[in-house]
Amino acid sequence: MQKDQVLPELAVLRETFQQGITKELKWRQSQLLALDTFLVERERDIADAVHDDFRKSAVETFLTETGYLRGEIRFALKHLKSWTKSQRVSVPLIYQPAKGYYSPAPYGVVLIIGAWNYPLNLCLAPLISALAAGNCAVIKPSEHAPHTSSIIAEGLVHYLDRRAVCVIEGGVEVAKGLLEERFDYIFYTGSYAIGREVMSAAARHLTPLTLELGGKCPCIVDQNSDIRVAARRIVWAKFLNAGQTCLAPDYVLVHETREAELLRSMQEAITDFYGDDPRLSPDYPRIVNDQHFRRLETLLNDFAPWSGGETDIEERYIAPTILRGVTPTSEVMQSEIFGPLLPVIAYKALEEALDIIQSVKEPLAIYLFSSDSDVQERVVRHSRSGGVCINDLLFHAALYTLPFGGIGSSGFGAYHGKAGFETFSFKQSVLKRALYPDPALRYPPYSSRKISFLRRLVLGWGTGQLFLY
Ligand code: NAD
Repeated sequence: MQKDQVLPELAVLRETFQQGITKELKWRQSQLLALDTFLVERERDIADAVHDDFRKSAVETFLTETGYLRGEIRFALKHLKSWTKSQRVSVPLIYQPAKGYYSPAPYGVVLIIGAWNYPLNLCLAPLISALAAGNCAVIKPSEHAPHTSSIIAEGLVHYLDRRAVCVIEGGVEVAKGLLEERFDYIFYTGSYAIGREVMSAAARHLTPLTLELGGKCPCIVDQNSDIRVAARRIVWAKFLNAGQTCLAPDYVLVHETREAELLRSMQEAITDFYGDDPRLSPDYPRIVNDQHFRRLETLLNDFAPWSGGETDIEERYIAPTILRGVTPTSEVMQSEIFGPLLPVIAYKALEEALDIIQSVKEPLAIYLFSSDSDVQERVVRHSRSGGVCINDLLFHAALYTLPFGGIGSSGFGAYHGKAGFETFSFKQSVLKRALYPDPALRYPPYSSRKISFLRRLVLGWGTGQLFLY
């Protein structure tokens, strides 16, 4: 038998939602402001926690975690009133006098399960959308970033309304336990394999959900591109967070005529950014745990790296590494790398590059460096990916105005900005009719005269004729 609301915290949240507290615009605004205060007042503690989890620099934490989240809050506060507005709809004459409209309504109590690689962002960005939409929320941060998890749990209670938001820390068993409960919406960020488990758990309660998963994001470098700029941007996006980014370029497909130049420029960029020994750079993070370190080391063992390749288990350090001689059938091409190894594959014709991309499961993003607008058009048209970013990487996910999410094996649903608000809302339709007139036409007994009249009414539907009766 399925359980329902065994967690005491959940009962409190459900009660709060039922009282309608979270639906008030003022309440939503106050919670968003309180979350912003948390990010401002605890910025240093957050940076320290993320650093303790995988030695990420404070600047990177500001750019990808606190700074990003504060912008998301500001954007939501600016637009919230207009997002919550009802939409009037036209009502056919036969239903008059009446008024029809629909409004975005919160689901209720939602569950947010975050992943470790951006441990604050992946919990709090969905939380911003959930609160803006008027929901209560349970947050389950990743156990693989324990310092950040604990600052989320310890910090948020001092800022947010405890009747509406709670943080539950723990690992796989805790996550599974939470999924036994009935939530009104589930927002999951993590791997494809666990995403499937989450979806089947959600199905038990018929709970709608969003899955933000990963995938192998390709980056095409066409012959018509500025190789130096492309190289710098690729290196920055790949080795940010030591490659542990769902949107990182997983592999590069370069036109054969530019391969040597690209490899050289990428090596120069690595040295420019991280020095001769990236191990000493304060800006180069470590692999999150031993399990991921070993997985990446095994992938590395299959190749003589073109550059990089140094590892140190003590520190869980893997140097920024470029791999050459990789083919679509190589082991490293069979699943998401999620670490600082960058295979480079040369192609002769764009079709060949597009075929390679299509032979892999749907990625979260496709990147293209090309100044040829025909090539840009062809890549966008042939893509089946959550997003496309041309002449840059990652930034399409930094815009609050663009929905961010996957397709197929990289997930479904989207968030950021208005898309997040819409994800955590459903469209509630309302029709207000007058009690009079109350003609007998719709009530039995249905005489043949009534039926023929009703048929004329119904068949006129959608053709505009209904308005003429
Ligand atoms: P993870 O191990 O931190 O797991 C994610 C969450 O799932 C954690 O909170 C964990 O406790 C929970 N979990 C673990 N087992 C579970 C189970 N059986 N049932 C329910 N929940 C369970 O992270 P991960 O899965 O290693 O994340 C890495 C993956 O996430 C990569 O594939 C990456 O591309 C993807 N990712 C996607 C996005 C995105 O926005 N699309 C962002 C970040 C990461």
